[in-house]
Amino acid sequence: MIKQTLIKSVCALSVLLASAACVSKPAERPNILVILTDDMGYADVGFNGSTDIKTPNLDELAANGTIVKSAYNAHPFCGPSRAGIMTGRYPHKFGSQFNLPRVSRSGGLGIPIEETYISKVLQDSGYYTGAIGKWHLGEESDYHPNNRGFDEFYGFLNGGHDYFPEKFVPAYARQKKQGLDHAIFGYLRPLERNGKEVQETEYVTDGLSREAVNFIQKAGEDKANPFFLYVAYNAPHTPMQAKAEDMAQFPEIKDKKRKTYAGMVYAVDRGVKRMVESLKATGQYDNTLIVFFSDNGGKPKTGADNSPLSGRKGDVLEGGYRTPMFFHWPQKIPAGQVFSHPVSTLDLYPTFSSLAHADIPKIKKLDGKDIFNSLVENTSPRPGEMIYAVRHRYGFSEAAARQDNWKIIKRDKEWQLFDVDKDPAEKFNLAAKHPFLVREMVAEMEVWSWSNVQPKWFHIHKEGTQWREKAMPRYHETFSLEQQN
Ligand code: CA
Repeated sequence: MIKQTLIKSVCALSVLLASAACVSKPAERPNILVILTDDMGYADVGFNGSTDIKTPNLDELAANGTIVKSAYNAHPFCGPSRAGIMTGRYPHKFGSQFNLPRVSRSGGLGIPIEETYISKVLQDSGYYTGAIGKWHLGEESDYHPNNRGFDEFYGFLNGGHDYFPEKFVPAYARQKKQGLDHAIFGYLRPLERNGKEVQETEYVTDGLSREAVNFIQKAGEDKANPFFLYVAYNAPHTPMQAKAEDMAQFPEIKDKKRKTYAGMVYAVDRGVKRMVESLKATGQYDNTLIVFFSDNGGKPKTGADNSPLSGRKGDVLEGGYRTPMFFHWPQKIPAGQVFSHPVSTLDLYPTFSSLAHADIPKIKKLDGKDIFNSLVENTSPRPGEMIYAVRHRYGFSEAAARQDNWKIIKRDKEWQLFDVDKDPAEKFNLAAKHPFLVREMVAEMEVWSWSNVQPKWFHIHKEGTQWREKAMPRYHETFSLEQQN
């Protein structure tokens, strides 16, 4: 309390002195609500171009807020992308560039505890903090959300979950009875609340929405302290399981996969409606910043649509890691604005901590930018600076970087250049026209790559053995300007 009062006084004084730092920032600390989806395609919400999936509640927030068209995740799949969101740093810098091992309780591994999460920074500044849904950042005690800055946690610690309790509860019980304990697939395990197993009875997306509403209501009872709520839906990640009534919303979709996918997205949208209603009912709507996005691109084979982007989840093509995104905050974030400058989900950490007037640990080296003023003014937060993506494959590393309207990408064993503002599908390679720009961007990305460290784990055993066999990451090949054969 004393700290907050002091901050307010300092800001009030700064306002008198017309200091830019405090004048442009709202003095009141907002509640921050992050709504994250999993493996959602770029064109799978109405506000970002979907013609067949209805998302009226997300669309209304987007229309009354700022839609970000060039938002990038720190990685094109789940675990490392989330590590980026929480730490504000590229996961390659702390060995978290693979999903955690697919073994019981992730082999006791997790995102290094030296990496202070945004949740911890906000919690220490007085925020009431909650995480709901998928975690995927470590399952042992040290890595548990409750030990990483979240007062409340409801959900599951691994990378996904089945959706229908009437199916996963008996399946789990059967396998447990057979003594298979450690071998039981995580997607079937009971959900938990703050480390204690619970029996979820609703379709999981609805259960997570219910918990989000409960959190918002509880937060509303103590308005002296703002809240930070991270709602990480596992929808529309596999397994593809939708409620019949949600699929029935889409009689015009004939393709079974797309219909199921649409139903799963629609369930998220129904949840968003409940959260918004709860924010309004508890008088917190006007002072809540809502940020919506997906952790990576969609998988067309599960029914996702990344158009007009090329590529899919896992790729460093735009469709792999560019996500639909919006910011909504009445009177503070411009309504009806489309923001086209490149933004990274690594920007959330410095942006949130700045809005919260929170202290970031002195040793913390963040990779993102505080983008609040840029969003308000519709200017680029990083003119001439780059956003990177690296995905390691079997025996080679895919790499890409975005700078202003340009993107370089190592594809077909050569560096290609695209003007992704005009050519988001990355179809017209302009490298031959701008050789010096390519050379400069590749050189700068190579400098960035020197900050990368060896992975601390691999998702599957084969990945680890191949990494060693092939002497990965083979960056001497990745950053070579010669075409490789
Ligand atoms: Ca994902």
